[in-house]
Amino acid sequence: MKHQVISPDVLALGPEDHAVLGSEDHAVLRPEDLAAFRAALLAQRRFHLARLRDVQATGTVRTGTPEAAAHARKAASARMMLTDVEAALIRIDEGRYGACHRCAEPIPRAQLEVVPHARYCGSCRRGRGARR
Ligand SMILES: [Zn+2]
Repeated sequence: MKHQVISPDVLALGPEDHAVLGSEDHAVLRPEDLAAFRAALLAQRRFHLARLRDVQATGTVRTGTPEAAAHARKAASARMMLTDVEAALIRIDEGRYGACHRCAEPIPRAQLEVVPHARYCGSCRRGRGARR
């Protein structure tokens, strides 16, 4: 059942939930937010560590083969993600989490919810042409 008309109820269900937060502390991450992001990051770290272990466990591929190249790519991407995730965990510990690395503006909460290890705010990311 599809409706073309967007009801006000749907519009009110934004990911940031402004009604609860208010505009003042929109960008400020509360301790419970940090705890949630830390949990998400730890889950990601577990996931990427498992991925890396999987790649390393299948160590019987011959070097120089397409399989070896695919394994190397997988391992490299898992390591890169681990580096990003661990850097974000350190930023939480040091109280620097959620600030853009380039302009030091707070990274929107909605963006952190999608990419908890994000380093740049939306505009800096677009400016850099980087994906993270
Ligand atoms: Zn920025």
